[in-house]
Amino acid sequence: MKLFDLHCDTLTETLKKKKSLLDGSLPLSDSPYEEWVQFFAVFIHDNQRGEEAWRFFLRSVEAFYSACALYPDRVCRVNDLDDSSVSSCCRGILSIEGGAALGGKLEHLEEAYALGVRMMTLTWNRDCELGSGILSSIDRGLSEFGKAVVLRMNQLGMVADVSHLSRKGFEDLCALTDQPFVASHSNAYAVCPNPRNLTDEQIKEIIRRGGLIGLNFHMPFLALSDQDGYAPILHHAEHILSLGGERVLAIGTDIDGADLSPRLTGPDGLRGLYDEMCRVFPKIRVDEIFYYNAFRFFKSKIGVAHP
Ligand SMILES: [Zn+2]
Repeated sequence: MKLFDLHCDTLTETLKKKKSLLDGSLPLSDSPYEEWVQFFAVFIHDNQRGEEAWRFFLRSVEAFYSACALYPDRVCRVNDLDDSSVSSCCRGILSIEGGAALGGKLEHLEEAYALGVRMMTLTWNRDCELGSGILSSIDRGLSEFGKAVVLRMNQLGMVADVSHLSRKGFEDLCALTDQPFVASHSNAYAVCPNPRNLTDEQIKEIIRRGGLIGLNFHMPFLALSDQDGYAPILHHAEHILSLGGERVLAIGTDIDGADLSPRLTGPDGLRGLYDEMCRVFPKIRVDEIFYYNAFRFFKSKIGVAHP
């Protein structure tokens, strides 16, 4: 089984607990998958803003690269998705969860890109300098600064991530750019009406643009009841596929940032989900969901800059 996971919070969780990246929930010492590409999000909480947020981002990046330097056989930074010489280790890519990381400065976006960040959720749940999150009390959409950030991200080749973004923010993004974008860890609202999930219109727009939607394993985003096990994830996958999402459906586990069903923890849980999906969908489709859709999308967007 190959895994391309669009989102985990392991980097932030381990940093906050003053532990090594290897001490989170990811099986970084086991080489558990045939291939493994993992986005490591730097998560900025809504109580971090300005230079404090930026400094936390820098500390997180440092923690990621020091783990890569200390344990090169377990985790490394992806420079080329086609380079199979490092396939036995977890190939990591940095992302930002919460555009507040930039501290309100466009020049910090350039620095984040140079440090290896290739995807960024524009907001977390509340307002930040870029715009409103999905739980903001008033939905102001994207700010002028947020729009300037998106346009510069397009030029740099950093992918916009709409998970956590407000409904109007999503509309503003669509009006601003023709570029495909990603919902790295969001499910279908029609299956589970949680505001963090995507409406059918949003899913169709991501499909139309050729973006990605990563299935999130957080139980409250999967089902209102009976959240345990694989069935709720299959329902979300079936729904997104029924809208035409064969090329956009992917995995965004949210490990270390989510409440996971015990059946979904660790490589055995993911392999169980993979096997269960293979009973429902053709294997080639399951391989696309677990790996190839995200691989194809990011193939042209990874690499170039070194810290
Ligand atoms: Zn999140």
